[in-house]
Amino acid sequence: MVEKSKAKKLQEELSYQKKNYFETADEKERKAIYAYAEGYKAYLDAAKTEREACALSVELAKKAGFSEYHFGDKLKAGDKKYFINRGKSVVVFRVGKKNLEEDGMRLIASHIDAPRIDVKQNPLYEDSGMCFLKTHYYGGIKKYQWTAIPLALHGAVVLKNGKKIEISVGEKESDPVFYINDLLPHLGGDQMGGKAGKIIEGEQLNVVVGGLPYADEEVSDKIKLGVLAYLHEQYGMCEEDFLSAEISAVPADKARDVGFDRALIGAYGHDDRVCAYPALTAVLNEESDHTVLAMLVDKEEIGSEGTTGMQCKVYEDLMEEISIALGANFRKVRAHSKCLSSDVTAAYDPNFASVYEKMNSAILSCGTCMCKFTGARGKSGASDASAEFVGEVRKMFAEGGVVWQTAELGKVDAGGGGTVAKFLANLNIDTVDLGVPVISMHAPWEVISKADLYSNYKAFLAFMK
Ligand code: MN
Ligand code: MN
Repeated sequence: MVEKSKAKKLQEELSYQKKNYFETADEKERKAIYAYAEGYKAYLDAAKTEREACALSVELAKKAGFSEYHFGDKLKAGDKKYFINRGKSVVVFRVGKKNLEEDGMRLIASHIDAPRIDVKQNPLYEDSGMCFLKTHYYGGIKKYQWTAIPLALHGAVVLKNGKKIEISVGEKESDPVFYINDLLPHLGGDQMGGKAGKIIEGEQLNVVVGGLPYADEEVSDKIKLGVLAYLHEQYGMCEEDFLSAEISAVPADKARDVGFDRALIGAYGHDDRVCAYPALTAVLNEESDHTVLAMLVDKEEIGSEGTTGMQCKVYEDLMEEISIALGANFRKVRAHSKCLSSDVTAAYDPNFASVYEKMNSAILSCGTCMCKFTGARGKSGASDASAEFVGEVRKMFAEGGVVWQTAELGKVDAGGGGTVAKFLANLNIDTVDLGVPVISMHAPWEVISKADLYSNYKAFLAFMK
């Protein structure tokens, strides 16, 4: 081998360059990257809504020896607990042996809701040989992407008698699927000339749920009656029960490897289960001297509002209850706590290079990505992490051998976005964003790298050390 020149050595020593994690990983590490992805894909397929992700996470926690915690319960070092909030969010935590007032908590905050098409409260009608459900979309979507693809319906209905039933249709091979119509190109001249935000309007996102008329001469709206009769037989539902229902249409596809080399994963809802799953498994799999919490919350996609969103006091109450149970002053605890706000960021996409600034973009497979700040137009709305805290986290990652990178979401003034980071930072908790870069974020099918997924998991382990 030719010896490197002095300048070359100096350049390597002084310059910063992102590394592709696959390239730096040895054979054993690469196997671990691929193996970890299998568990993740199974989690994606089994949990498409926040309710399902909450239930599945609790199931996995139970298997790992965790038990349910309620406010007021006693706690001691070594306890492994989960706290369920209304069946839509869950916090899985371990009590560490370190002094809570001095050490604080280590929080990993992710979300388990994802953009989707929600069914309205009075949704059912028939028109021209088809029966539809009217909808109102949830989260930031490009509406045209949700037409002409197979959809599944998931949700919960509270019947008149107070009984709650769960619905999931469209995931099994033998299940029917549902559908949002699009216009044929032959008649789509005017549509295609319009603005992309308008080519499919919100009120056109009607989901086809039937086409067979009820066999009767007397009644009108026979297809609708047929659907109602089916719902009644299957679930005991009447039309009025939609009033107290939460039903969502989500893509019916399963998570699949993408590419000949299977380096990438395509799936619905990587945002943000690609952070929630590593947060959950890190806390389930690894012991820690710290008190560590994996927070899987709801409603991030619509502003973290409500009783299950990160702005709800319930999470602060939980941290306070844990502090009280351990005889610690909550103000001291949170002042010494540290948080990774774990949400996805945009991966640099060479097909849309103009909206990125490449030097400060997340490059696929270069590891999980830290965003010191989010927000838009002059960092507005961002929780800008301090250099001191970033330095601290950077040191943890270096010690844990984590391949990671840093980025902004898009170039300056191209757009932007927010996460739950600011809500935790507002509690006087040092917080920085860290998450997996995603291609086609918020599309019905998003793509991530297996390397970045595993890097995210390793980052959480390093943070818990
Ligand atoms: Mn997100
Ligand atoms: Mn999102």
